[in-house]
Amino acid sequence: ETIGGNFDRMVAAFGEREALVDVPTERRWTYRELAEEVDAVALGLLESGVVKGDRVGIWSPNCAEWTLVQYATAKIGAILVNINPSYRTHELEYVLNQAGVRTVVAMPTFKTSDYAAMLARALPNCPTVKDVLLIGQDSWSELIETGFSGDRARLTDIGAGLSPDDPINIQYTSGTTGFPKGATLSHHNILNNGFFVGELCHYTEEDRVCIPVPFYHCFGMVMGNLACTSHGATMVIPGPSFDPKATLEAVAAERCTSLYGVPTMFIAELADPDFDSYDLSSLRTGIMAGSPCPINVMKQVIERMGMEEVSICYGMTETSPVSTQTRADDSLDRRVSTVGRVGPHLEVKVVDPVTGLTVPRDEAGELCTRGYSVMLGYWDQPEKTAEAIDAEHWMHTGDLAVMDDEGYVSITGRIKDMVIRGGENIYPREIEEFLYTHPDILDAQVVGVPDAKYGEELMAWLRMKDGAEPLTTEAVHEFCRGKLAHYKIPRYVRTIDEFPMTVTGKIRKVELREIAAQQFG
Ligand code: ATP
Ligand code: MG
Repeated sequence: ETIGGNFDRMVAAFGEREALVDVPTERRWTYRELAEEVDAVALGLLESGVVKGDRVGIWSPNCAEWTLVQYATAKIGAILVNINPSYRTHELEYVLNQAGVRTVVAMPTFKTSDYAAMLARALPNCPTVKDVLLIGQDSWSELIETGFSGDRARLTDIGAGLSPDDPINIQYTSGTTGFPKGATLSHHNILNNGFFVGELCHYTEEDRVCIPVPFYHCFGMVMGNLACTSHGATMVIPGPSFDPKATLEAVAAERCTSLYGVPTMFIAELADPDFDSYDLSSLRTGIMAGSPCPINVMKQVIERMGMEEVSICYGMTETSPVSTQTRADDSLDRRVSTVGRVGPHLEVKVVDPVTGLTVPRDEAGELCTRGYSVMLGYWDQPEKTAEAIDAEHWMHTGDLAVMDDEGYVSITGRIKDMVIRGGENIYPREIEEFLYTHPDILDAQVVGVPDAKYGEELMAWLRMKDGAEPLTTEAVHEFCRGKLAHYKIPRYVRTIDEFPMTVTGKIRKVELREIAAQQFG
């Protein structure tokens, strides 16, 4: 099935149910209304000259139009290119040229970002771009108008000529470890992934899913949008970019049953001074994913937010994204401390990164994934693709993991984040988990810094809770002594107000490592 085919089937089944709510603009669509507008955008794009296989870039914070463009491009077989809303001119030029984008749909401005002006500056250097549509401005309303007077039967013919294995989306990785890479994904890749994520969350047409994570990333557009539409559920957009208050308010006002976030978002919501004033009683489930999910935060999400069935997902852009997921009937301990078991119709294994052989259960190695979710490849980067996907179609994730006897996977870190101090392999994640247990510590990140004697030394970056005094290095040593092996106790400690972040809400350890190396290396 193609994304457009699946969407049409859902419209036929759930036409009068609510499909989409854009909270900040107070706009609502039923499935039938959404389908009409999606088709108008699709016909408008066709009329403007976009054909199957053309790349259509979208550069915008979360808004309903993002979703319209997602489904409209899928219907005509155009390849949607997600452009990071935090990019600036130089990075924009890179993406537009790398993906050979023909048409760009952009929000004209948002907060301090003048997207229209940056586009105007980039265009002279982007020869493939033929068309720019600015959301809410004339170019956009003209497109929709043309589309509404078009012939919807044309879309049925075009749909019949699309294959589920066609590329439909280029998604760039978060850039946590370096330069983002464009993963080329098919209908089959992302539609199935969204569907199964929704299955494991037991979504039905009764569910209302609050999506504060960016659509530009797979968490928003696949685990969010596609999981909803493939089960007839409602997508709720709490705001253009993450805001803890707006998110809690949207859950309460829209009676959401499910809430998504990366750990830092849940941490911010739980720390909101007005947390107790929001009625979150409608919440049943949700997903925490994207980076290590601290046990303590998971527990609070279950207890204080009432998200009894909350699930942890693990995955990466290159695998559409989800590979493993916890289930509501897993034991509480596994639901807060592992990333669950392999998803339906997928395989995972843990291998020795050097020999490539599968390691025994309970031993750490590199996690590999195989199955329907593995991307077609990195866009226009065959060598990078060959490095990541081996001849037997296993995707090598670059993540370190341990699998237990019953197949539950724990992520112990990224190969790139592992610190080797005096020959000991240290997984920063373990130390971070321990530091979180300190009552004054809000968030902790541990990195390696170059050291003449040991090769690397550990450094802990701490964010303190509101009102708590910064901890001294000595105090942290005191806290760790006797509880962590001596070589795992961070030699250096610094407090910081905010961590450097990617737009997907991930902490950029590369940057923390660079600053640490300058100060102590
Ligand atoms: P880049 O590949 O550009 O360096 P990135 O890997 O962060 O960036 P994404 O594809 O957005 O880009 O993220 C996938 C990565 O996120 C995984 O490889 C893993 O390291 C991490 N991750 C995702 N989910 C989890 C989770 N539940 N627990 C721990 N880590 C996770
Ligand atoms: Mg990655």
